Amino acid sequence: MKKVLIVGSGGREYSIGYFMKDEAEIFYAPGNGATDEFATNINIKDFEELAEFAKKNNIDLTIIGPEDPLVNGIVDVFKKHGLTIFGPSAAAARLEGSKVYMKNFLKKYNIPTAKYIETSNKEAAYEFIDKCNKLPIVVKADGLCAGKGVIIAESKDEAKKTVEEMLSGKAFGDAGKKVIVEEFLDGYELSMFAICDGKDFVLLPAAQDHKRLLDGDKGPNTGGMGAYAPTPLVDDVLYEKVKERVIKPTLKGMQEEGAPFEGVLFIGLMIVDNEPYVLEYNVRFGDPECEELMALIDSSVYDMFYNGATKQLDKIDVKIKDMVAVGVVCASKNYPYSSSEPAEITVDDLSDCNGYISYAGVKKIDGKLMATGGRVLVCVGFGKDVKSARDVAYKIVDKVHFEGKQFRKDIAYQAIK
Ligand code: AMP
Repeated sequence: MKKVLIVGSGGREYSIGYFMKDEAEIFYAPGNGATDEFATNINIKDFEELAEFAKKNNIDLTIIGPEDPLVNGIVDVFKKHGLTIFGPSAAAARLEGSKVYMKNFLKKYNIPTAKYIETSNKEAAYEFIDKCNKLPIVVKADGLCAGKGVIIAESKDEAKKTVEEMLSGKAFGDAGKKVIVEEFLDGYELSMFAICDGKDFVLLPAAQDHKRLLDGDKGPNTGGMGAYAPTPLVDDVLYEKVKERVIKPTLKGMQEEGAPFEGVLFIGLMIVDNEPYVLEYNVRFGDPECEELMALIDSSVYDMFYNGATKQLDKIDVKIKDMVAVGVVCASKNYPYSSSEPAEITVDDLSDCNGYISYAGVKKIDGKLMATGGRVLVCVGFGKDVKSARDVAYKIVDKVHFEGKQFRKDIAYQAIK
């Protein structure tokens, strides 16, 4: 049997292993309190030590879930040791690690995006803001800010104040010492995921995420409260536009930059009048989009990742099930404001539910599965359309019990309305 090492501990990583566990023996670094049901958790953080572990244990393929190790060069370390690893090099991960790098890349390769200025000079930013003839105005910190570095300013004064706070280092430290100020794009958002091997790619079904905590897209931003795929908001024409205008020029551009993109390219798009604009790139799967996408794959999940990691994507045909998956996140009581007391999780019989649970913020304490804060788990329902899949997802939510469980009740509303 093949051996796979998955780096990460969230629902995203759980789902990758869950849908590969019949094909491979799975190891997680570090994994969580539920991954040990079908895999072995190991507690190694150092990249060199992890590479040693992979060598000693004859790991065939390593898959990296979160952005931090990618931006910090884990792929470069593994490749130096001759290991097979799925994910971009540190150089290619700059597409996510620096918004300034990303925007300048988009401009250089003529990929559609919002008009912007990139600067560390307050006056230059103010001048751009003064010239904007539409509100709101978007201000972004350059570096990684765990999804919190983007402010939609409703007035020019607010935009200027935000610029001031970022540049002074008050808001995000060094991550905000360069800013992007850009025009607001008024449309709907999509997440598109392309498995890339530097040259070729396989485009997965488009998904929609729900970043805000509360129903109706209200409340603070979170890591994501639910997602579904495929979304009926995308037709073949739009898929073609994204391939031709965004993905192909991105892969070509990264080759020209000397940093070919390998791994999963997650493109955050705003669709305005049926035209795609890039809001951002991420260099890993979205969480909770991954939990739905893995469930939709009807061919070998191992082969998809392995062929991506070994530049053989042209050799495989990734098959997609004819169904919809809807995922609803159950978060702990105080998410996203503060931590919560551990709470025991119990789950009723799920045999009448066509779906599964992907576990994230969980630990085993005295043999019991406990919610330990943050996003605890994702209830994923399958169905022939969005509505039936959503019904199953909420049926599973009803069968999950832990103190303080909170979730959105309107996941996939844009597809249903
Ligand atoms: P980002 O991290 O750049 O994707 O931004 C986070 C969120 O801010 C996006 O998911 C959008 O909802 C919003 N956003 C960012 N840039 C823009 C823009 N130019 N116009 C409208 N909304 C935006």
